Amino acid sequence: MRCRTCDYSLWNLKRQTCPECGAAFRPSTYEFVANSVRFCCPHCDQAYYGTGPTGHLEPDRFDCVRCGNGIAMDEMVLRPAEGLQELQTQPGSNPWLERHRRGRIKGWWGTIGQALIAPDRLARGTPEASSLGQAWWFATVTLVLTFAVGVIPVMCLALVFPMMMVRSAQSGGLSGAPSLGMFAAMMAGGAVFGLVVGFVFTLLFTWMWALVTHLLLRISGSGHGPLRRTVHSIFYSSGTIVVSVVPCVGNLAMLWWIVSAILMVRRSHRVSGIRATFAVLTAPVCLTVLVVGFYAVALTAAIGSTATRVSWVSTQGSAGAAQIVTDALILHADTNAGQGPAHALELMLGSGLTESQFVAPASATVIADVPVGGMTLLDLAIMAGDEKLEVIGRAAAALPADVVAHRVGDFVFTYHGAVLDERAAGLWVVVMCPDPDVNGPLDAVTPVFVGLADGSQLSLVRSTLRNMLPEQNRLRRRLGLPALPDPTTVTH
Ligand SMILES: [Zn+2]
Ligand SMILES: [Zn+2]
Repeated sequence: MRCRTCDYSLWNLKRQTCPECGAAFRPSTYEFVANSVRFCCPHCDQAYYGTGPTGHLEPDRFDCVRCGNGIAMDEMVLRPAEGLQELQTQPGSNPWLERHRRGRIKGWWGTIGQALIAPDRLARGTPEASSLGQAWWFATVTLVLTFAVGVIPVMCLALVFPMMMVRSAQSGGLSGAPSLGMFAAMMAGGAVFGLVVGFVFTLLFTWMWALVTHLLLRISGSGHGPLRRTVHSIFYSSGTIVVSVVPCVGNLAMLWWIVSAILMVRRSHRVSGIRATFAVLTAPVCLTVLVVGFYAVALTAAIGSTATRVSWVSTQGSAGAAQIVTDALILHADTNAGQGPAHALELMLGSGLTESQFVAPASATVIADVPVGGMTLLDLAIMAGDEKLEVIGRAAAALPADVVAHRVGDFVFTYHGAVLDERAAGLWVVVMCPDPDVNGPLDAVTPVFVGLADGSQLSLVRSTLRNMLPEQNRLRRRLGLPALPDPTTVTH
């Protein structure tokens, strides 16, 4: 039991004022280990032992058994029980509050150690009357030091990284040094900015956390202590945050802080573990949910806009690629009495298509994947004109006489046997769908483009195409054509 103003020892005093500084004190504002303190009658010195949970007399007001005077606990002379040292009467200790006696660094470090491994003892050692300012100051000092140490690796990186870049730029014969200096300054500035924001946020959150915790303690039942105790618990348990200077364990530090705060709240308010856990845990859980939710929404938005853009670009490209093949086919029909070529590769001869135009932009197919008469489109691409003609003739001859559809790359040609005139306007003549042998099984939303006999084009997805197939086959029957299988399943 020491003076809260000057730390003078207050044992064995008949008057309740500090002999050193004159400050008044009341023994009932101190806590002791049960049975560790003798409370002696101021009149006859009869000793009574403090048996209550805080080492106090129970009751704290009674008539002395020896002299019969009415006495109160706060009037009595206190001494440690026989054979006990002062330290043994203390139920806990708060080294931060004793730092003027222990030394600043020892006081700070001792509190960190207790927050980490003995939060219960720290809670018991923190008097209810001790100031909020002290607790706030401890949390601030701890956070400042932790954040300052945490930013060191980032600052080193900000210095070392541009130096490495300067070296590589010099060896590459580039003179980028001035802009790299700026880059270093930006990185360092960013690190300091992050430090300040993180620090301010953590400090504000700590206050909010204490207030929310106390509010939840209040609404979850009675029998708790004052707000001051909650603020002490949250602020002193912040000592655990020093763990976050160890790389990669930032989250562990936060968890540790939560556990330590729960133990301190439980002890200092004398509430159940479940109630303390509920009160302390709610604010960090809500914050985590908010942060994770915010990231999820931001990420979804970012991915969504990228995906939309990518699919829009590839759709535009694919639509164009399909239209080119449709146009080449219609051109061939126009100059050949409405007939399509015996093999679609003949479109390379008259209509100016190239090998690569048989491959859709948005598919994984490459021309080396496309078989043509025992070789590939890639082989064909590097052949001379005569040879090309011969290979294409061979490919055409290899098609059966009653062929319904044939595939070249990502295009399935479905014009066989038809006369491409007005009567056949809605007839599918070519379907652009990725080669399943290369791209794997297609899903229902794979974009599919259909070229019609009138030269127009449909942008569909695979499932729509399949739904439209019966209608298309009714048209084919009217035109005297055999039924078409699902074009997307046609392989080479
Ligand atoms: Zn004093
Ligand atoms: Zn007495």
